[in-house]
Amino acid sequence: MSAAPQAILEKFIEVRIDADLDALTAGARAALPHLVRAMSAIDPLFMAQMGPGVPAISERLAGQQTPEARAFRLFKSPWNKLEHDEPFVEGAGPAQPGRALYPEELSAEGLEGYLASHPEQKTSLLDPYTTVERRGDRLEAVPYHQAYAKGLEPVAEALRQAAAVVEHRELAAYLSGRALALTGHLALRESDADWVKLKRPPLEVVIGPFEVYQDQLRGVKAFYEGMLLAVVPEACERLATIEQGLDELAAAIPCPAGSRPAVGGMAPMIVADELLATGDGASGIHAVAFNLPNDPWVRGHVGWKQVMIRNMMRAKFDHIARPVAERVLAADQLSHLSFEAFFHFVLLHEVTHGLGPAYRADGASVNAACGVAYSALEEAKADIGGLTLLLGMGGRIGIPALDPLDIGCSYLAGLYRSSRFGLAEAHGKANVIQYNFLNEEGALRAAGGRVAIDPARLPRAARRLLDKLTLLQAAGSPREISEFLGRYATPPQGLLDAVAGLADLPVDIVPLWPQVG
Ligand SMILES: [Zn+2]
Repeated sequence: MSAAPQAILEKFIEVRIDADLDALTAGARAALPHLVRAMSAIDPLFMAQMGPGVPAISERLAGQQTPEARAFRLFKSPWNKLEHDEPFVEGAGPAQPGRALYPEELSAEGLEGYLASHPEQKTSLLDPYTTVERRGDRLEAVPYHQAYAKGLEPVAEALRQAAAVVEHRELAAYLSGRALALTGHLALRESDADWVKLKRPPLEVVIGPFEVYQDQLRGVKAFYEGMLLAVVPEACERLATIEQGLDELAAAIPCPAGSRPAVGGMAPMIVADELLATGDGASGIHAVAFNLPNDPWVRGHVGWKQVMIRNMMRAKFDHIARPVAERVLAADQLSHLSFEAFFHFVLLHEVTHGLGPAYRADGASVNAACGVAYSALEEAKADIGGLTLLLGMGGRIGIPALDPLDIGCSYLAGLYRSSRFGLAEAHGKANVIQYNFLNEEGALRAAGGRVAIDPARLPRAARRLLDKLTLLQAAGSPREISEFLGRYATPPQGLLDAVAGLADLPVDIVPLWPQVG
């Protein structure tokens, strides 16, 4: 055992999560206990996917309050995914890259070799919703609804009971359809499409296999997760006003050098309060926003939804970003930390991802043209674009008019918070680029070992960086891109020291969910 469970727990802080249920209809409320049961029945499925021995460990630790048991419940697995899957439960052994979804002895090369000689099995073996099993010298794909049939039955039953009491007709139809899809009687993609098409449901019910990050062997198998959220109607209405101003927003994010934006406008955005997350959705770090489904057919033909999780964002702002800011921001600016500014910054970050260059003048996608640098440039663009929109368009098209210093402080608190997850991967590099550029432009300055924002210089500095990033995306040569990264993506000592000085603060929260079931 290489990691101490107590040290893992100290990286997290338990936070009670509030949710506003006032707007829920009686039927939606009556559905909650059933939906909580459906969500809870996802945990054993996720654990069975994670490793053959994981359900037994879960049973052994159930009800215990030891650090080991609490850390296990935090990840729903005995491996710490924040530390390269280090085992922290006695006797767990090392994590298998293919988890329980592939034969234990099968390597990535072994799988490729097999697929090369059995091309007719490629589709079924690489399907996101099948497990791979060995039968003699053959590999066989087993659909999830067969492999997990027993565990899926209580999920489907609870979804049917929820469908029977909810008054929103489309939501009820989606819930019954979801029960069918999870048990193999309807294509999951049809059900995903129904979810995207739901009009103004009171609840968002995300349940099933979605993300593939835990598949470390091939990165294709989806893991079971559940997220139950109550939609916040007044916040959604304000968002709709912002969406109607899409042309104005698009005009503010440049597409230089003959480049073109992605077509299709903006996916519907929803603001919701989370009531419960389970399975892969509650393994380690909890999302503050998600963008689903992942199925390329559904995204291409029907679209997708972006959901902003307001109460989770609030919890992380109050309990993670604020203590971080209290260590790094100039003391006389701390009173400018504002959740409203932080929330709208994150929202406009997501909006900005859909704006700006997507295709170059020669037709090449920006993603392909920028290669490995793409993610860092795109995240930096989304951040600095979101900042520019919030600074420049406050008071128009539903964007609140906020004090530039509130915006700057709340933005910077978020930048330091996320820098703690590492400065070498895409989001970390994007943070370093912004920090260095804003420093160079005088929008940030050192103030007694801390950093202060110059609100008068911030808008121009942000705009100049946005222009530079969109130009690189639209027309930058590989040499220009690597020169830019060489100049701006190297973390300066000041930032490294500041991040190192946060080591004793928690990096994330453990939600204590509201009682709704
Ligand atoms: Zn982003």
